[in-house]
Amino acid sequence: MSRSLPNIIITGTPGTGKTSHCELLAERTGLKHISVNDVVKDRECHEGWDEEYQSWIVDEDKLLDTIEDEVKQGGCIIDWHACDLFPQSWIDLVVVLRVDTATLYDRLTARKYPEVKLQENIDSEIMDVLLQEAKESYDEEIVVELQSVTADEMESNVERIEQWLEQWKKNNAT
Ligand code: ADP
Ligand code: MN
Repeated sequence: MSRSLPNIIITGTPGTGKTSHCELLAERTGLKHISVNDVVKDRECHEGWDEEYQSWIVDEDKLLDTIEDEVKQGGCIIDWHACDLFPQSWIDLVVVLRVDTATLYDRLTARKYPEVKLQENIDSEIMDVLLQEAKESYDEEIVVELQSVTADEMESNVERIEQWLEQWKKNNAT
């Protein structure tokens, strides 16, 4: 299977900056931002609402069916706090965003996360859960860990991904 543009996952614990990165990258590159949050909600890829966690219970099969055609065409930036559900063949680059505990705590508190969810997400970040998941699910060469604490870091991260995209286009030109 070949595509004329690559697919990128931007993953990380909630609050690490996925959506901010995806929006800026989409604006700069014209790639399409797929907010899995919005797909789950708007196209009802869920089995109901979890009150305790204040989040949808995702129906992964339905989610994959819903985005498959679009993603297989290429040129998508997938914005989601998990990456192990997407088939390896769909994905060309996996970016894992990272922040320190104090920063994450402040960002999630500002979002009024329920206590259980706040603590779980902070533990998950401390224990490198998303990074491990990415490395276990994809070839390590396509997994990149990037820090996302400051605006300057976001800027340089996006520039770095843009450079990667240009290189991918050169390598895949026919
Ligand atoms: P996610 O989509 O991973 O949950 P968001 O992109 O919504 O994260 O970011 C969470 C909050 O943190 C937002 O208020 C955003 O402006 C801020 N933020 C994210 N990344 C950075 C960064 N690199 N520098 C400064 N603020 C950031
Ligand atoms: Mn988000």
